[in-house]
Parts: sequence; structure tokens; C-alpha cells
Amino acid sequence: MSKTKFIFVTGGVLSGLGKGVTAASIGNLLRSRGFRVWMQKFDQYLNVDAGTLNPNEHGEVFVLDDGAETDLDLGHYERYIDTNLNRSSSVMTGQLYQEILENERAGKFLGKTIQMIPHITDAVKRRILEAAEKNKAEVSIIEIGGTIGDYEGVHFVEAIRQMRHDVGLENTLYVHVGFLPYLGASEEIKTKPLQNSVHDLQKMGIQPDVVIARSDYPVAGSHLDKIALFTGVEREAVIPLETVDSIYKVPAILQNWNIEKIIAKKLKLKMPEKDGHNWLKFVKRLEKIDKSDQEIHIGLVAKYLGLKDTYFSVTESLKIAGVYNNTKIAIDWIDAEEIEKDPENIAEILKNIDGIVVPGGFGGRGIEGKILAIKFARENKIPFLGLCYGMQLATIEFARNIAGLKDANTTEINKKTPYPVIHIMPEQEKLLEGDNYGGTMRLGAYDCKLTPDTISFKAYHDSLISERHRHRYEFNNDYRQILEEKGLVIAGTSPSGKLVEIVEIKNHPFFVGVQFHPEFKSRPLSPHPLFLEFVKSSLK
Ligand code: GLN
Repeated sequence: MSKTKFIFVTGGVLSGLGKGVTAASIGNLLRSRGFRVWMQKFDQYLNVDAGTLNPNEHGEVFVLDDGAETDLDLGHYERYIDTNLNRSSSVMTGQLYQEILENERAGKFLGKTIQMIPHITDAVKRRILEAAEKNKAEVSIIEIGGTIGDYEGVHFVEAIRQMRHDVGLENTLYVHVGFLPYLGASEEIKTKPLQNSVHDLQKMGIQPDVVIARSDYPVAGSHLDKIALFTGVEREAVIPLETVDSIYKVPAILQNWNIEKIIAKKLKLKMPEKDGHNWLKFVKRLEKIDKSDQEIHIGLVAKYLGLKDTYFSVTESLKIAGVYNNTKIAIDWIDAEEIEKDPENIAEILKNIDGIVVPGGFGGRGIEGKILAIKFARENKIPFLGLCYGMQLATIEFARNIAGLKDANTTEINKKTPYPVIHIMPEQEKLLEGDNYGGTMRLGAYDCKLTPDTISFKAYHDSLISERHRHRYEFNNDYRQILEEKGLVIAGTSPSGKLVEIVEIKNHPFFVGVQFHPEFKSRPLSPHPLFLEFVKSSLK
């Protein structure tokens, strides 16, 4: 008998309707009740992981402690259930094929014909069961990427259908999230596309237990009646979810529609009395700030401005820090190339900015603009937070303009620079070449030792921290002494002292560049100290 209860979340009608947030919100509610919740995302792509996906098309690559490069939904999961997930939480079709084909070549199938069913579906089920077991899940929530009806997702749908057979009716729950479009001509919400997507699901053998009807407009009881009638889902389990101004309000909305009672009944779960007190407190603060006039402008100097999802964890971390500092955060998107084109105009471009963030990135486009923004922040004592590439560029800016190392650069951009202040360490290059995971990047959580009397040390109230990385290049130790002599502060290093992880400057309200990505560890219930301090000093 399964010890774990499984909740499967599918999506219908269209993509991008907030399925990940809905799944995470269900996780949030169960977590607040004291359950040990695990979450998994199954994606249809033939990629092996999200590391190679273009952020401009697919959004941010979220990194876990164990170095897994995942879809940004994993960020939602961690923020809502306040739990560190691992590699088992992110599965793409390419990974399954890779496993099956490797086993086939190794002769592990003993001459059998290898098929979508049962071999791929079994691989899916095995991953669901193993993840639940290894991570001791009481409730495991599995989100299926894409939209019901996509060819590419059929193996996942079939696998989760079989799960009910394998682990039993009262251990499985199917939640279908669909969309209700609004028709301007007749000024009404239409339920037919959602009905049809449930019918598609039914044709594949799954009768959903809960339907969540996303909508940009108010949904009437009569709509819910109709959906219940035509899908056979119990009326009380048809839940409307209108678009809200903050995604952190979703758990409370689902709770008001009694989703916990429905889950408890279907899964025969005893719900402990506890009820997400701290989360509600967070949402209350958020609502209070919404109503106030207090607002600061944070300039995000970046290059991938086509899709804001590219920096999702960065903007969320800023907003979360805003809540704890009682201020709204307006994100001003600043195209680094605009600064590059018109450097004289930088003061005008950055005129209303209270704090500057230079986030992670790759490649040369826009970097001179970012360096100019960093210089502006340094000279004008505007709070600055550099994340990964942002830290590397801050080092370059300092080297060029304070230490007089003209044309200093990272070897990522200029292999022939006279002053490669950022480079790939020779020994690391060798080390990483030997491994097969994710190419040559430093990925996942590493410890960092903080230097007393620095901005970072004061922010963390700690001397040893752990943060997540995703980069290839490092601070070049050959330049450590000269840059330190000129006033660059090495505020954090790897425990051995070898890798520079944080740089700061003195006599500045807040100027911090970190080689890691603190944005992956900031959550509503555990806001990140660096973001808290950065926002605090941007307020002044
Ligand atoms: N491009 C830089 C590197 O590879 C920074 C990467 C990042 O910002 N994530 O080191």
C-alpha cells in the first residue's frame, strides 16, 4: 500500500495559465497543515534539462542545491512550499529517452521490443514513486507540463492514468486547470473550451476530481454549474480562480473554496488543524503595502528584455524584500544596450532609480552598458547588487576605472585582454572537462565564508553561508592583491579561500557583487538577507 498520496496537475485550453502556481499553492496549503510535501514537474521537451533552453524563449533557468538546471516552475514550488527540492523534481522527456536508449544499448532489455508503453510510461512511474520514497513524501504533487491534447505529452498522461490503478483510488487525485475565455462581442465568459479539454482528458482515461477554472473575469455560479454538469466533476470541486494582482494570494483563494476539504475527502487524509499562519501574515503585509503610496524604483539593467520571466526569481526576490521593508517595488527595465548607445545620457536614463541590479547573463551583448550602469551606481552612491555576471562586471569596472587596468575584461568576452580579471581557472577547466554533467559550469550549492566587517557579513549575521551557482568563469586570483590594494573588498570566498565569491567596495551605502544567485533562495517565508539589505538601503 502506498504511503504517499499523489496529486496530479494537468492543464487545459492554453499554456501559461498559472498551472505551476496552482500546483505550488496546493503544496503550500498542505505544507502549512504540516504534511511533508514533495513536488515534481514533468516536461515534454526532448531536452535533457533546462540548462540549454534559451531564457528569452523559455524564461529563467532555475537552479537547485544539487545543481539541477530546471524550469522556472521549480522556483514557484520552492517559494510556496519552502522546501529545497532536488534533481528528482524536474524530469524532461529527453532524460527518459536517454535512460531507455542507454539501457537498450547496454542490452538491459534482453531482446525485448522497446515501446512507449510500457517502457517510457514505466520510466515515468518509477521516477514518481522513487522521488516520493526517497524524499519521504506524505503528499507528492506532480505537474504535467504542456496542455492536454498535445501529442508530446501523451506518455505522461498515460503514466499518471496508470498510477491510479497501481496505487489505488484513495491515493490519487487529478486536478485539471483550464481557462475560461471572455468573448467581448457578447460580453460573456465561455465554458466550452474547458469542457472540451476535460473531455480530451477523459478520452485518455482520466476523470478529474477537481477542476480549476482560471479566468480574467468574474466567474458566476451558473458557469460552475455548467462545467460540473458537462464534465461530471462534483459541483463543489469546480473552483474558479480569477487573475489576482499577486500570485501569493492564490493559496488563500483555493482555501476559501475549500480545496483542502475536497482533497482530504478524496484522499482520505486527516487534515491537522494548523493553517498557514505565517503565509497569511505575509499576504496581509503585501495587501497593506498595495494600499500605501510607499514605492521605490529598482532598475534592472539587463539584455533579455523580450520575456520578463527570464528574471523571475530576481523580481520576486525584490518584491518579497519589499514586503518585509514595507514598500512596493517598481521594477524599471533598463535595456543595457540603450545605455551603450547613449552613454552621455546615463544620468537621464537612471534618474528615478533608487537601486540598481545587474543580474546574471552570458555573452557580450549589452555588457558595456551594464558596466556603465555599475560605474554610475558606484560614483553616485546608488545601492548596487550584482548577481553572478553582475559581480564579474563590477570587478571589471573596478579594475578599469579604479585600479587603472585599462581594457580589463573577462575572457568570456575578450580572450586577449591584457587584464583577464575574470577567467576560467586552469585547474577547474580540467576538473570540469572530466565530468559529464551540464558541460563546464559550476552548478548548485557551495559554501561561502564571509569576511567580518563587510556589508554581506552584517546582512547574513553569519560567517558561513551556502548559495547556488551557475557560471563558468571566476574571479582571477592573480589580480586579487592589486584590486584589494586599490580598495576592492573580498567579502566572501570559498571555505578554502581560493574562489572569490563576493566583492564589495567601501564608503558606499550598498555595493555588493556576488558570484552566486541569491535569488534562487529567497522565499516569502525566508526572505534573502542580501535582498532585504539592498532594498533597505535603496529606501534611504
Ligand atoms: N557568463 C558568466 C559565466 O559564465 C556569468 C554567468 C551567470 O551570470 N549566470 O561565468
